[in-house]
Amino acid sequence: MAGEAQSDCLFCKIVAGEVPATIVRESETTVAFRDINPQAPTHVLVIPKAHYPDAASLAAGAPEIAADVLREAGQVAADEKVDGSGYRVVFNTGSGAGQTVWHAHAHVLGGRGLNWPPG
Ligand code: IMP
Repeated sequence: MAGEAQSDCLFCKIVAGEVPATIVRESETTVAFRDINPQAPTHVLVIPKAHYPDAASLAAGAPEIAADVLREAGQVAADEKVDGSGYRVVFNTGSGAGQTVWHAHAHVLGGRGLNWPPG
């Protein structure tokens, strides 16, 4: 069923506390933790606790939780003090766009200059 934890999903295991992560924020519906391979001084992932494979399925299946993810991304930026200088919120969606973990997640990147267009 949509939103149910998947036993083979790394991020569901982080939500369950079965895989360690450096958690920086948690809400009723979301968890935010540091990316294991940071691409910027601030690189935090914000995920829904419920399992949706990507941002589009999250937005379609649970729009209120998608809004929670975006709100928490903004809170992470404020906590990390990158909101003033600018930061980026990225949802890689599909393998062609670089998605490697099939549990929706927002990358919050900041603390350095960010080029456009992205690579
Ligand atoms: P994607 O490539 O957009 O799907 O992003 C997945 C992200 O998860 C990558 O930036 C990885 O570095 C990150 N990642 C993978 N495993 C872990 C982990 O165990 N803890 C924290 N981040 C992870």
